[in-house]
Amino acid sequence: MIPQSFIHDLLSRADIVDTIDRYVPLKKAGANFVACCPFHNEKTPSFTVSQSKQFYHCFGCGAHGNAISFLIEFSGLSFVEAVHDLAAHMGMQVPEIADRAVADDGALTGVQPSYRNGDEVIQKALVEVLYQSMQYYREQLKISDKAIAYLKGRDVSGKIAAQFAIGYAPSSWQGLAAVFPNYSSEKTRKLLTQAGLAIINDEGRQYDRFRDRIMFPILNQKGQIVGFGGRVLGKEEPKYLNSPETMLFEKGRELYNFFSARRAIRDLGYVVVVEGYMDVLALAQHGFDNVVATLGTATSSFHIQSLFRQTDTIIFCFDGDGAGRKAAWRALENCLSMLSDDKSVSFLFLPDNTDPDSFLRENGKDAFAFQIKHALPLSDFLFKELSLRNNLQTSEGRAKLVHTAKPLLQQVKAPALSLLLMNRLSGLSGMDRIELQVLLPLKRPVSDRRVMKQQRKVMISHCRRLLRALLYNPGYITKLNRNLLSECGENPEEVSALKSLMELLDINPHLIHNEISILNCWNDDHHRDLLQIIESEVLEWSDPSAVEAEFLDTMKKLQSLQDKKRMAELHSKSLDKLTEDEKRELQRLSMQ
Ligand SMILES: [Zn+2]
Repeated sequence: MIPQSFIHDLLSRADIVDTIDRYVPLKKAGANFVACCPFHNEKTPSFTVSQSKQFYHCFGCGAHGNAISFLIEFSGLSFVEAVHDLAAHMGMQVPEIADRAVADDGALTGVQPSYRNGDEVIQKALVEVLYQSMQYYREQLKISDKAIAYLKGRDVSGKIAAQFAIGYAPSSWQGLAAVFPNYSSEKTRKLLTQAGLAIINDEGRQYDRFRDRIMFPILNQKGQIVGFGGRVLGKEEPKYLNSPETMLFEKGRELYNFFSARRAIRDLGYVVVVEGYMDVLALAQHGFDNVVATLGTATSSFHIQSLFRQTDTIIFCFDGDGAGRKAAWRALENCLSMLSDDKSVSFLFLPDNTDPDSFLRENGKDAFAFQIKHALPLSDFLFKELSLRNNLQTSEGRAKLVHTAKPLLQQVKAPALSLLLMNRLSGLSGMDRIELQVLLPLKRPVSDRRVMKQQRKVMISHCRRLLRALLYNPGYITKLNRNLLSECGENPEEVSALKSLMELLDINPHLIHNEISILNCWNDDHHRDLLQIIESEVLEWSDPSAVEAEFLDTMKKLQSLQDKKRMAELHSKSLDKLTEDEKRELQRLSMQ
């Protein structure tokens, strides 16, 4: 695993502005940098990056984190991948220590590493093996008349074949031995099987997984090759064979062509999700570059989340047959909880026995563009399907409709959409809105952070001011008069967060000189959200140096509160009961 000290070192040395600017162009604004938020849809920038504290915060959606969490959230990298990516940019070598508890590895960002560390060397070797195999398959395609004829027959141009690095795995059992002369040596054997390229049978004989197939390299979100899809040329089964799940390749995480399509998806403002490699190629051939395919799995929530990071509009394109409908329904189910009122999902069903490839060949590009434009919105598909499944002529059927719709509608967190769906259900079931609402109470809409922010402005507690100062500069802890802390008990959560923060600094005095955000060292989830919000408040100040003034002022106010309390206490005693010391104290307090 990666030592925490390295992560900290990395975060202090890497510049978050550079890191984010690689993906999202930033503009300087006062002491900070801003951009329109890459994590939610907005017209005016509320995504703010602090160079001095090395963190980002979005005042619109609350996204918050450091350079590593940005890479995880934005590029879909795992924790370990993000650390390596950042280190590579800094020319730093990631040290490895023996694999103990993996748990605290991801604690810095709250994200668990998806695989254990120490594996990076192997992963690198696997990528290399896959890459060499890809080159080999490409060479083989050039000399196979059969494979070329097949691609020509499917209208795949040489240009498209090159663009997608299409290859051909010859029909021999050990074709890859041509690339790896030590094919059967223990080391190569292990690498090839780990990469999913070779299989060892029960007799211990080793052979190539992909034989006599058109080969489609699959890239991850960093553009590294992580696996292959292979298609037969004739009618054999299985028609498609994918790499097995390996250390590099998780089907539920990867989408075919996602890496290359990202730009077009952003430019065109939507993505088309299709079922197969050939569909992606056919659409690319006709100028649709914003197309991705799932890899023989259902569309996962992870897929949808990754896609929604690039665009607000997803269009699923499925075959019109039973299998297509089923796949679409699965996709719908996985979308519901991820919808917001500014995102849209629709479904395009092609006529029976047609796939995008054959549709385009028969009808051309414009017809397909028309279909995309008129795809069925998610809500229409949802109710159409539910109506088909239940007999709405009977009370029992309508009751069942409500019963089936309930778990689906309750997943929708988008407030407006949620209400609209409820209205439609009311129309279909014949039940009135109020009755329905009793049966399926809507999720409370996510509280609007802007409103919360406004409310906060009115009442900022002393405790919060102290937290703000400590987060801005932990050095204030040395100037903090701890005797006064008893006076700032307005908000129990803030008080408890303040206590935890002080404890962290007491136990780790070296952190007092920490320049970058102290929350990089915050290893539990407790209070994290609150501290992130408080930390980001200073970002909005035109003059952050005013933190010092606020800190001193707060100490003064707390002192005066304590004095008043003490005075009241002394006044409550009769004068002749006061000791000499108390009398002097009272005199001193009254003079202030
Ligand atoms: Zn945002």
